[in-house]
Amino acid sequence: MIQLTLAWFVFIYLVVFLAGILFFWIGYEMLRKRLASEDSRQLIYCRICGVALTASIASTTGSLLRCPHCGSLNEDHHQGGL
Ligand SMILES: [Zn+2]
Repeated sequence: MIQLTLAWFVFIYLVVFLAGILFFWIGYEMLRKRLASEDSRQLIYCRICGVALTASIASTTGSLLRCPHCGSLNEDHHQGGL
């Protein structure tokens, strides 16, 4: 039988517990970033009033999207991001 002192038992318990929290945290951040990038890819912001547009709610005129709030035309391309 393996002999464990109380100090080693506490150390192993803490390492396993903290490793579990670390893996859960990393998985949560990866999922959150993936969902955030999918949401931001579909949004286009009006250059005049700043309303978030999606291709489904904005009427299209050629390659331009018409803002339903102010009526200005916006290009269908995304800004910024890495
Ligand atoms: Zn607008």
